[in-house]
Amino acid sequence: MTKMNSEVVAGLRAALRGPVLEPGDPDYDAARTIWNAMIERRPALIARCTGTADVLAAVGFARQHGLPLAVRGGGHNIAGNALCDDGLVIDLSDMRGVHVDPQACLAWVDGGALLSDVDHETQAFALAVPLGINSTTGVGGLTLGGGFGWLSRAYGLTVDSLVGAEIVTADGLRRHIGPRQEPDLFWAIRGGGGNFGVVTRFEFALHGVGPDVTAGLVVFPHAEGRDVLRRYRDLVDTLPNDVSIWAVLRKAPPLPFLPADVHGTGMVALAVFSPQPPAQVAPVVDEVRGFGTVLGEHVGAMPYTAWQKVFDPLLAPGARNYWKSHNFRHLSDEALDVVLRYAAAVPTPHCEIFLGLIGGRANEPAPDATAYPHRDIQFAMNVHGRWLDAADDERVTGWAREFFAAAAPHAAGSVYVNFLTQDEAARVREAYGANYDRLLQVKERYDPQNLFRFNHNIRPGG
Ligand code: FAD
Repeated sequence: MTKMNSEVVAGLRAALRGPVLEPGDPDYDAARTIWNAMIERRPALIARCTGTADVLAAVGFARQHGLPLAVRGGGHNIAGNALCDDGLVIDLSDMRGVHVDPQACLAWVDGGALLSDVDHETQAFALAVPLGINSTTGVGGLTLGGGFGWLSRAYGLTVDSLVGAEIVTADGLRRHIGPRQEPDLFWAIRGGGGNFGVVTRFEFALHGVGPDVTAGLVVFPHAEGRDVLRRYRDLVDTLPNDVSIWAVLRKAPPLPFLPADVHGTGMVALAVFSPQPPAQVAPVVDEVRGFGTVLGEHVGAMPYTAWQKVFDPLLAPGARNYWKSHNFRHLSDEALDVVLRYAAAVPTPHCEIFLGLIGGRANEPAPDATAYPHRDIQFAMNVHGRWLDAADDERVTGWAREFFAAAAPHAAGSVYVNFLTQDEAARVREAYGANYDRLLQVKERYDPQNLFRFNHNIRPGG
């Protein structure tokens, strides 16, 4: 990789309030490190933007010099789309401001904020945006792909709470968009990923949540998984929208409420969540307990912000990760048998298979109401291949791929764009579904040269 002409770089530095990093700079390696340690890329320049003016200058610079351009939000994307080789990275990780108006129930969130930033500010007023389940994820990438988590059944997807945004588009303009301002572009960013520009600020409607919620885990042995998962699958059809239960299959981590002899053995954990108080959720928790032999449980009232961080230790940055994902409208007995078979054969103790329950209010909007199209999906299933040693690359990715193939005949044939990995360009149409053609039209209008292409890309002319 050649270094860029120093005069040209000096021009970019002069135009920005934030620093511009090059290979060899002390902060360069840290700035090109993202959540998935499998991704190793060396940008020519990393512009650590501090606000819209910096983003405008950086977008203009990339265009003027014909540089590949990537945009980094929280840096969590499994495919590594936050980084590019040899080009310019617009790094938003210093843009994490969140401002809440509790009377209007609105939040203004900067493009590089993390989920924990939003939860912290909104929970000061017992308000929340429905976000994901790992607090170090970026709001930017999560929202642009759709966004689901514990609150989605009660309040819809993250994009369903998005009421406006400020975006810098490929033509170098800053636009304020919403249902009445450039509605096509506003439609496209609610599920069409980072294809359309750099979102410098998101505007969310807030919902009353917490500060305490009811949440926790009920853990069963893998050996009883067949019954547990079937009863779980049947129960979720009857759940009210304000209760969510996800299933996680893995080797039991050393959780304090599990006996020591359970640690490291195969488990099926059901993670229960509701914004309601414990007494209201008790009948559901009782029913869950009856699914099998409870190895340990910890369910009760806890601060919403604490529950949002519960899975962080299992999803810490720095490990090698390879994911494969399917959507399901319904989990057949055969699908559950495949899940159990592969969960019994996890190649490392860090690997897991999870069934994320969506449905509820997330499925109320029409499939074309926003660019996120999968309004008929009840579960997003993800296999997390996760390991520490590069020598295990083939073994773990092989397990994930085999599982994916075995589960495919039972799945819906669609996928959540934010769970696509780097070798899945062929699944981009599955991810955007019936909304692909309209997304392509918007892309051709706002980014005909495909300046924003380090994402699950909608190719102009494609
Ligand atoms: P980045 O890698 O920084 O960006 C991802 C993509 O979005 C890139 O193409 C980037 O260019 C673009 N982008 C980011 N910010 C902006 C912006 N402001 N303007 C324009 N483009 C931008 N998803 C869920 O819905 N629910 C979950 O519960 C959930 N849990 C997860 C847990 C873990 C551990 C991980 C790794 C991911 C999880 N995800 C979840 C998936 C997550 O939504 C995606 O990985 C998402 O892309 C992360 O966004 P980011 O900003 O952190 O990523």
